[in-house]
Amino acid sequence: MVKNFGYKILSDASIDFDRNDKRIADYLKAHEPSMNLCIGCGSCTATCSAGHFVDFNIRRIHTFIRRGETNQVKRDILKCMFCGKCQLVCPRGVNLRNVILTINRAIEQTG
Ligand code: SF4
Ligand code: SF4
Repeated sequence: MVKNFGYKILSDASIDFDRNDKRIADYLKAHEPSMNLCIGCGSCTATCSAGHFVDFNIRRIHTFIRRGETNQVKRDILKCMFCGKCQLVCPRGVNLRNVILTINRAIEQTG
């Protein structure tokens, strides 16, 4: 009889990137290539107006898109207030307002 120490096997947390939906990432790459200049500094997230009021993180959205985890993106992108502050502080000149518009268009087109 094995003693029960209270431990259990955790569910698998690995991500199979090959099976994820990269359609939004591909659309964004084709229509707003400035996103490729992003260095992930987080200045956009630190200054985000929406992020002060609700759980919204534009850098996290970009990470989800690159990973192809689009369900979270579809929920979160609607929280953007489209103020453009993120774009003003971006050190790489990423056209963030158009990034957000393009993500919305990609979601419309890919369902
Ligand atoms: S501020 Fe610009 S470079 Fe920095 S994480 Fe945001 S988009 Fe990327
Ligand atoms: S445009 Fe959207 S993502 Fe950028 S700072 Fe404003 S609310 Fe945040």
